Amino acid sequence: MTDSSLTFDVAVIGAGMAGLTCAQLLQQAGYSTIVLEKSRGLGGRVATRREKEIRADHGARYLEPKGRHLRRLVHILSAHKIVEPWTDKTYIGNDANNSLTPAASSSWCPYYVAPAGMNAVGKFLATGLEIWLSRRVLAMTPTDQETWQLLLESPAESGKMPGPQEVNARAVVVAIPAPQALTILEPVHTQLPADFMANLRSVEFEPCLSVIAGYSPNRQRDLAQREIAWKTVVFPHDEQLAWIGWDSSKRSNAQMPVFVANSNPTFAQDYLEAEDLQPAGQMLLNRAGEYLNSWLNSPDWLQVHRWRYAFVSRPIPEPCLAATVPVPVVCCGDWCGGNQIEGALESGKAAAEEINRQLRRLPMPGEGVWDVIARE
Ligand SMILES: Cc1cc2nc3c(=O)[nH]c(=O)nc-3n(C[C@H](O)[C@H](O)[C@H](O)COP(=O)(O)OP(=O)(O)OC[C@H]3O[C@@H](n4cnc5c(N)ncnc54)[C@H](O)[C@@H]3O)c2cc1C
Repeated sequence: MTDSSLTFDVAVIGAGMAGLTCAQLLQQAGYSTIVLEKSRGLGGRVATRREKEIRADHGARYLEPKGRHLRRLVHILSAHKIVEPWTDKTYIGNDANNSLTPAASSSWCPYYVAPAGMNAVGKFLATGLEIWLSRRVLAMTPTDQETWQLLLESPAESGKMPGPQEVNARAVVVAIPAPQALTILEPVHTQLPADFMANLRSVEFEPCLSVIAGYSPNRQRDLAQREIAWKTVVFPHDEQLAWIGWDSSKRSNAQMPVFVANSNPTFAQDYLEAEDLQPAGQMLLNRAGEYLNSWLNSPDWLQVHRWRYAFVSRPIPEPCLAATVPVPVVCCGDWCGGNQIEGALESGKAAAEEINRQLRRLPMPGEGVWDVIARE
């Protein structure tokens, strides 16, 4: 690969919902676009863990098509059999008597899930894009040629084959949580507008621990015969547990019952730096066992995932954050607007429009962006 082939119109950092949406729009408009992603998978927090035959969604639980962008995406994903309705009922775990009451059903129900795993959504949005996985962006610096130079994590560290260590781009989209964006942009803060940096620094996130718990295959038969009444339960007043879902009910070929439980932010904060997260995971399952079926506290195995930046608690009101000097850079993600997946999609779109305004003002695909992917 020659040096010149490593200069793109736009580099997008992060292959979550915001970054992939932005990259699709820009690439379809005609910009040469590269997506750089630190992890091995696509979709960011819309994540699925796969162990042998077992899949579990330890990030986003389901899609609630309550906004314009998500409604349209769910429509297209449904047409391609990537998602299907899961349930139209959420239950609330009551603290007072450990009983369940059905939540009032909302106009956007049912909730949609991907039987192949929620990361199928990211794989769909990534169709046709140039994406380098396991390539964390460590730093970016403006060059005399009016580009940003991005320094990538050494391929040796990420366990991949050697590859380029630097990428140049005429504009950069930073589609990652604001605190992670700061680690890249703080070293060049003197070259960026003060209000841009102040906005970025003002954003706050809350953490979450996600437990994936697998139970004896024998219980699968019990569940099939005497199906439990709930698939998703929220615990608004519990001190530890925020949510539990019967994850394996999303998949018709599940080999064993799998449940996923999420902690509330305070509990996650207490255990965030713990080396061994198993005890915290077990505590969450104990709580679930107290509210629901008691056997939930005795899984065959459990895994805990630490989400340091799970949910935005202090977003900025604008759909993206842009600077034109020294070289165009636009930040986006669910923290711009703060409305989870719907917000991330909207923010990715806003970032693409902003980059287009700053570069060549090409006609943009707009609403049809996902129809184009679906035809590929
Ligand atoms: C446990 C949990 C449950 C959730 N449930 C729901 C739900 O039911 N419904 C809902 O709407 N939302 C839910 N959410 C929130 C939803 O997942 C997010 O709002 C949305 O996915 C955010 O997308 P994003 O593109 O803004 O960011 P992200 O998904 O965080 O994407 C950012 C990407 O950037 C990558 N990255 C970070 N730093 C670098 C770097 N330096 N170099 C390269 N790549 C980098 C990350 O690996 C990641 O892939 C949930 C989140 C969590 C954690």
